[in-house]
Amino acid sequence: MNVFIGGAWPYANGSLHIGHLAGLLPGDVLARYHRNKGDCVLYVSGSDCHGTPISLRAKQENVEAKEIASRYHEEFVQAFEALNFSYDVYGRTDKDSHKDFVKKVVLDLEETGALYHKESEETYCEACEQFLPDRLVEGICPVCQKSARGDQCDHCGEIFDDGDLLEPRCKICQNKTSKKKTKHAYFALSNLQEYIEEFTNEHKDRWRINAVNNTSRYLKEGLKDRAITRDLAYGVKVPLEGYQGKSIYVWVDAVLGYLSTAQEQVGDLTKYFSKLDREYYVHGKDNIPFHTIIFPALKEVIGLSKQENYIVSSEYLTLEGRKISTSSNWAIWLPYITANYQSDAIRYFLLTNNPEKRDADFSWREFVYSTNAELLGAWGNLVNRTFKFISKHNDHILPKTEVKLEIVTRVQGLYKEVEQRFEHLELKGALDSIFEQVRALNKFFDEETPWIAKKEDKDACDQTISTCLYAIANLAQLLEPFLPDSSRKVLDHLGIHDISYQEITKIPAKTLDNVDALFSRIDVKKIEQEEAILKEQQSLRT
Ligand SMILES: [Zn+2]
Ligand SMILES: [Zn+2]
Repeated sequence: MNVFIGGAWPYANGSLHIGHLAGLLPGDVLARYHRNKGDCVLYVSGSDCHGTPISLRAKQENVEAKEIASRYHEEFVQAFEALNFSYDVYGRTDKDSHKDFVKKVVLDLEETGALYHKESEETYCEACEQFLPDRLVEGICPVCQKSARGDQCDHCGEIFDDGDLLEPRCKICQNKTSKKKTKHAYFALSNLQEYIEEFTNEHKDRWRINAVNNTSRYLKEGLKDRAITRDLAYGVKVPLEGYQGKSIYVWVDAVLGYLSTAQEQVGDLTKYFSKLDREYYVHGKDNIPFHTIIFPALKEVIGLSKQENYIVSSEYLTLEGRKISTSSNWAIWLPYITANYQSDAIRYFLLTNNPEKRDADFSWREFVYSTNAELLGAWGNLVNRTFKFISKHNDHILPKTEVKLEIVTRVQGLYKEVEQRFEHLELKGALDSIFEQVRALNKFFDEETPWIAKKEDKDACDQTISTCLYAIANLAQLLEPFLPDSSRKVLDHLGIHDISYQEITKIPAKTLDNVDALFSRIDVKKIEQEEAILKEQQSLRT
């Protein structure tokens, strides 16, 4: 099977936090799972390097916008490496190959009649000499009279048309804004209403429920045409006449990153997509309409739209019960957590507490206890006690006795169960099912008491240890998409270097070296220390 996986493109204007990570991790788990099954996977993502916040920040710091983008792009690359993300390509939207691709698509849209051009009055700041995007216009909500910005009110949730905001001011310089005429190219999305309705109906059983609901809401209101150009010099230049000094809107620019990076790998996109069986798009719920409406509409117009489409859109992760907030510095940043904790511990916690169907919470207390009790206390313990037993009581030699049938049946059942869970995008459920068997195996070890059996019934003891080794090999293989680092270590010790989705029936290794513990216990004192750091950091908001 040919599988394409697109992870959302993080915006390179600031560090990533655990909330972003919780939304992106399912992409890596899916990529690894499909590769293990022998599927041909292309897993791509990249940094979104254009847009207003980056150019604003560059202005503030008096540097080139590209410098800001590069700073965070490098930081993202390091964080994803530290967390063992297995992207086939991790690109950036300010690469020439990407910019050329976007321009080509815009020309295609123009040629097929999907674009039209219109002059309109837009909000302008005379002092800053620039048009202001919604987020840079502050004013008063016409409904609840509280402060609001651009086109929506965070207090009452009302979304309004440009011009309805009362007493509009420029967020940069606080001066009153004015209106100025400007020309823009519009993507005639309203013409694709029927197509997107069909597309949604055809694929919605493969989408997370929040994606189905969110998309239905947009469709009910009727799709609106959207400007694809904007009055900002920084970005992909518009390849059409009369658009000097303007660039392509990031909502087009960024989603096309999936295609430009894919093209880098496969060459002919039309051929690639015609043979593609399945595509997954993995992101947080704020990104849903870009992946269920805009991107499919663009793909349809350029003729790349006939695969099974899966939307893996996460709910939000909260931190210590509160909404994660960049502006008030209420977040755990990836450079910090990856420098201080094991990657598999971070992955385990965020996958077993993934905001899959509802919001989930990260707290240092839960993180420390779950790492110590589950990852180390259950899985680490099963591996450790079995390996130690072999070193200590069996002269490092792996017994080759028949494995207990009861456990074989359970392991075979687990492969089927995990597969079913993956088909329904229940990644957390898959991980929980594997850990249920980890706990069952620990119980099996306890009940079989090999440390007593070794003196009274050597065969029974060997069978227990053989059975545990068989189970460990298979559990490690099943865990690889979730916990790649520790799983590979376990399998390496057993002489298994090729991971698949086939039941492992023979352990190639004959002997076992002394093995270090898989995971390190986190001192519970860390809970208070980390909580204090979090509070302290809030007072140092950026
Ligand atoms: Zn309001
Ligand atoms: Zn201004």
